Amino acid sequence: FEKHALNYESKILDVFGHVFQLTEFRENQWEAINAALQHHDCFILMPTGGGKSLCYQLPAVIDNGVTFVVAPLRSLIFDQKQRLKSLGISCASLTGNISHEEADEIYRELYKDSPAFKIVFITPEKISMSDQLNTALRDLYNRQLLARFVIDECHCVSEWGHDFRRDYSQLGQLRINYPDINITLLTATATLRVQQDILQQLHITRNYKLYTQSFNRSNLIYECIQKENNDLTLSQISNLIKINYQNQSGIIYCFSRAECDRAAQYLLASNIHALSYHAGLNDSLRQTIHMKWINDECQVICATVAFGMGIDKNNVRFIIHFSMPQSIEGYYQESGRAGRDGEIANCHLFYCYDDFLKMKRLILNDDESKSPMQTKQVRINNINRVYDYCLNNVICRRTQLLEYFGEIFSSSECKSVMSTECDNCRQVYKTSSIDCTRISIEILKLVSDLNQTNTTLSYIIDILRGVNSKTIRDAGHHRLRAFNSCHQLTRLDLERLVTRLIIDGYLKQEFLDQQTSSIVAYLRPGVNALQLASSSSQRSTNTSKIQIE
Ligand code: ADP
Repeated sequence: FEKHALNYESKILDVFGHVFQLTEFRENQWEAINAALQHHDCFILMPTGGGKSLCYQLPAVIDNGVTFVVAPLRSLIFDQKQRLKSLGISCASLTGNISHEEADEIYRELYKDSPAFKIVFITPEKISMSDQLNTALRDLYNRQLLARFVIDECHCVSEWGHDFRRDYSQLGQLRINYPDINITLLTATATLRVQQDILQQLHITRNYKLYTQSFNRSNLIYECIQKENNDLTLSQISNLIKINYQNQSGIIYCFSRAECDRAAQYLLASNIHALSYHAGLNDSLRQTIHMKWINDECQVICATVAFGMGIDKNNVRFIIHFSMPQSIEGYYQESGRAGRDGEIANCHLFYCYDDFLKMKRLILNDDESKSPMQTKQVRINNINRVYDYCLNNVICRRTQLLEYFGEIFSSSECKSVMSTECDNCRQVYKTSSIDCTRISIEILKLVSDLNQTNTTLSYIIDILRGVNSKTIRDAGHHRLRAFNSCHQLTRLDLERLVTRLIIDGYLKQEFLDQQTSSIVAYLRPGVNALQLASSSSQRSTNTSKIQIE
């Protein structure tokens, strides 16, 4: 066995230097490549740009037979194929868009005694739907020419992940149909729970090897900015780009297709070369825009989340979220597209309460996907977490992000690298801390006193700040104890505090209808304000303490 391993080692080094033309392995690559060649299933978790591909591409070159790589997007497959071809590695792809003739040619090659391909990319639906593919796989398997399965972006298998894809759930068949063929799993984001779910779904139970590493992207600067309104934010974004990122590449993530178009138009009118990219454009137009951006002919892409998965562009200097991401994992991945070259890059996240409501309402009203309530709840919780992250102007951004992946990160490390400190560590807002327990109780009492169905966030804040409005006076709410009790706090601070009470479950949001953004907020059944007084004073969370500007 040892001799065998040594044999592999020299082969690995040879292919690493001569085929891939690389000189030094990155963290976990050597270990993962060895494990794969010694017939282990591998679960490889590496930050975006970490070098996951090599962990299956190098073994594929050495292995006898063909490695099948399942990848979710054609654009991702296209990029990988180009890269492999430039290295002289024979590969092919069987995706929905290729012609019958092209597909036949690939199948003919696969039926040869010794197929030329080292790697064949497939999309997940092919596994469940294409008899032609399954027959070819079975034939290769019988001839011992099926080297390995690789599942790229494997978090798509899990409903708990941020990008579940139904087609991926069919991949459990691989282990059942080909029990002794090893599987390599790749992803840049998976919490412990998601990892376990993926392994279970794919029936990977025997001695697999897990390779994981710190997810800290030390060259990225994280910042969250409260959005006042969309127009103002667009002008902020345009200034930001003009002042800080002249001729530098970036992505602006938007909520909808219309928002992508609008952002791109606004930037174009401000002389910034921006293009809109979303699923509403046809394939060839998307491809053209993609290439323009890759080749630096277009500076900024305004895109929905559909853009970017598997994008290999090293010099992205900024990622701007014009609209909040849908989950922390999603945010990690989207922001992670910046600074792959290791140079400093910035991640600006714009957020606001209205966007938060809009996203939640969209999920609740999403009848098309027929998602069960449980899935909707997962998505709602994900958005709550994101909003919580945005609102938290105390704890280091890295600490918050990495905690989500089960990693303990000390904020002193964020501070130690001066030039990439996050906004909270930099304390850009010069905040001071106050204990909000009393105010929180006041708010809960107020909501329970109001006890009506049209209590909006804005109405609550008006009362707390003592706004002299006709509606308040007519309702007699100016006589409530809470009236004017928080005049020293800004609207923004109060908004943060009330939403924190919602996220922590002390208040509940209800959506009245599909159009209006009004919510009812009422005390969670079974919680009374006095109970809360004792429980929240014991909690050391931010419920009782927030930083104010
Ligand atoms: P991931 O899939 O983890 O996002 P990739 O596998 O696409 O990352 O690799 C990102 C970049 O790093 C690619 O350009 C790749 O060629 C390069 N790379 C990978 N491994 C090494 C290495 N050991 N040394 C130098 N460059 C590497």
